[in-house]
Amino acid sequence: MESQKNWAGNLTYSAEWLHRPTSVAQVQDLVCQCRQLRALGTRHCFNAIADCPEDMISTEKLTKILGVDREKRTVTIESGVRYGELAVYLNAEGFALPNLASLPHISVAGAVATGTHGSGDGNGNLATSVVGMELVKASGNRVTLSRETHGDDFDGMVVHLGALGVVTQLTLKIQPTFEIAQTAYTNLPVEALLTHFDEITGSGYSVSLFTDWQSAFVNQVWVKSKTGDFPETLFGAQKATENRHPLPDHSTESCTTQCGIPGPWHERLPHFKLAFTPSSGAELQSEYFVGRENALAAFTAIAALRDKLAPQLMISEIRTIAADNLWLSPHYQRDSVGFHFTWKQNIPEVLALLPVIEEALAPFDPRPHWGKVFTMKPTGYPKLPEFLRLREAFDPEGKFTNAFLETVLA
Ligand SMILES: Cc1cc2nc3c(=O)[nH]c(=O)nc-3n(C[C@H](O)[C@H](O)[C@H](O)COP(=O)(O)OP(=O)(O)OC[C@H]3O[C@@H](n4cnc5c(N)ncnc54)[C@H](O)[C@@H]3O)c2cc1C
Repeated sequence: MESQKNWAGNLTYSAEWLHRPTSVAQVQDLVCQCRQLRALGTRHCFNAIADCPEDMISTEKLTKILGVDREKRTVTIESGVRYGELAVYLNAEGFALPNLASLPHISVAGAVATGTHGSGDGNGNLATSVVGMELVKASGNRVTLSRETHGDDFDGMVVHLGALGVVTQLTLKIQPTFEIAQTAYTNLPVEALLTHFDEITGSGYSVSLFTDWQSAFVNQVWVKSKTGDFPETLFGAQKATENRHPLPDHSTESCTTQCGIPGPWHERLPHFKLAFTPSSGAELQSEYFVGRENALAAFTAIAALRDKLAPQLMISEIRTIAADNLWLSPHYQRDSVGFHFTWKQNIPEVLALLPVIEEALAPFDPRPHWGKVFTMKPTGYPKLPEFLRLREAFDPEGKFTNAFLETVLA
């Protein structure tokens, strides 16, 4: 087939065939026919998690929104639906999801599979909204997964890294629609962050800190608030009077409205608009999660590497994520703080730098983001043996495995 790349273009998938089924029956046929395959969402992962040397099944034509159940407060979708389209539909129906990632461009199934998150002390990652899934197992059989059908094992099935089969439908919890306003603050003194971390991350419904680590200031703090109550200063940071982009010298046209102007949840919670390229484009990303209790020590450990980071870094983002019970979630049973790095696309240099960061964070038991670039072996998943038991039941011959999973789940 014509060579296929991931969104950032840093990875060419090695697959021989890319299939684009339009129905669950076609997915089932493909799963039966293929010896080795992986599902592919919107290709926004930066590592080889989705790769397969034989067959890939793209969900790009499985994009039906199947409807809202008003009584149960749920929505059911096909797995290729992107958050951007789902959010517009839900809002028109009077509903909302609790949170979104920085971009609305990603497929719901791909995001859920990797434990993708937004920010907010009280907000779990996006997978915590999942209450049901339909999946095609290695046998080609279609199974419905939920807490009702599978009890606590359901917690092991939601963040699945694509290892259990091809997800064809998802059912998500929804809530009444709400409004949010966001405002950027600039130049937060690091000293203030270290002294008032909880107050700062608690100053809104969702808070993001952007830093290049190069000065005594955190460059920007974005506060997304349900009340729209924004003081002129935030622990020494100044309220911006115009829209900001997380990256210097980038047009704010791609960013969602700021300056405290309220709007629907889905037009404020992501940093970037669906119709524009999010972030920079030609980039790599890495992210490590530590327990909230280690946030300040981890911040200080990374800040000490500032000279090494500078040549490769575009920007870092620091976010908070509430603990959950999903076995392979990077936020499993740990209120977490995520240290994210948007890198220039200098692959060898970044790959050489990551072990330095991983070593600096080692005392804090970091868990890397499953969909971003890392070199460490992920640890800190006490339920991994039980996940492997589930995988054995769903995929006894390893049809859905790949080199990435063989390394990280070994
Ligand atoms: C600009 C940018 C900004 C980002 N911002 C954030 C952020 O704010 N927060 C965050 O946490 N991450 C973020 N990410 C990372 C990324 O969004 C996630 O890692 C997410 O997994 C990407 O979803 P996708 O559909 O593109 O997945 P893909 O890369 O296509 O696939 C990811 C994994 O999901 C599996 N998968 C996909 N669909 C299915 C299915 N139907 N059945 C079974 N398995 C499936 C694949 O096999 C693969 O293992 C960002 C990425 C980019 C490029």
